[in-house]
Amino acid sequence: MKITIASGKGGTGKTMVATSLALSLAATTPGESPLFLDCDVEAPNAHLFLHPSLTEQQDVGLLIPSVDEAKCTHCGKCAEVCQYHAIAVLGQKTLVFPQLCHGCGSCTALCPEAAICEVPDRMGVIERGPAAAGISFARGVLDVGEPMAVPIIRQLKKWASSQPGQVVIRDAPPGTSCPVVETVRGSDYLLLVTEPTPFGLHDLRLAVQVAGELGIPAGVIINRENGPYPALDEFCTDNNLRVLLRIPFERAIAEGVAKGKTLVEIHPEYADCFRRMFTQIASLL
Ligand code: SF4
Ligand code: SF4
Repeated sequence: MKITIASGKGGTGKTMVATSLALSLAATTPGESPLFLDCDVEAPNAHLFLHPSLTEQQDVGLLIPSVDEAKCTHCGKCAEVCQYHAIAVLGQKTLVFPQLCHGCGSCTALCPEAAICEVPDRMGVIERGPAAAGISFARGVLDVGEPMAVPIIRQLKKWASSQPGQVVIRDAPPGTSCPVVETVRGSDYLLLVTEPTPFGLHDLRLAVQVAGELGIPAGVIINRENGPYPALDEFCTDNNLRVLLRIPFERAIAEGVAKGKTLVEIHPEYADCFRRMFTQIASLL
């Protein structure tokens, strides 16, 4: 089963939930620990809680065009075909803008002079290794200044394939943009972590929309609950979203997380809550 933990915005406690779920499941079935993927490639931080030994690495990049000016007639066909404006002909120069290039290869295929060849361009790295409680851990890290997270997430999902029957937990990037959609794609269930505030509700609405568009069943975890916030519960009821767990607003949790502790280390009794929640999700699928 593949479960993605996401939230419409950053700072809701998504990684706290994802890491605690992984540890809770690992403690129940030693030898069948989950595979944990940190897909928040722009700011991965699950390693701070799960302490993996990252023993394997692989560069991720695209093949981008390189123009042989000696062969180029500056006809402009490559610039015409590029939907991303990543190649341009300016007078007697043909320029490539690697940060805009999606590596589709169209310009290379259509150049009438065979003046373009493709060269690898690194955008980040994927890494994996064993983590706490026997969890198999993998993450992607986008290089500073690189704009495209999706190819790294896609490659991470392929590279860190699970064993038959192994539970996969994906920690998604915040928001609802393309990197989140790529992380969620192929999941069996989406756990949306939110907080009981107008901002939290606004972003939850967007995240629920993504789940609906991808046709993936979703449930909600309310974090930092501090008294009733009826609008959130009403939204969940109206949209048939189960509230699977409520985590109170508590200073001890905030301080523990800030020191790199997971929720189940701060309050071990939550391990049972996470296991019950997992059983509930499994029964829904
Ligand atoms: S299509 Fe080929 S020949 Fe034409 S401008 Fe581009 S690189 Fe040069
Ligand atoms: S490979 Fe595709 S995206 Fe990149 S410059 Fe060529 S046409 Fe544009």
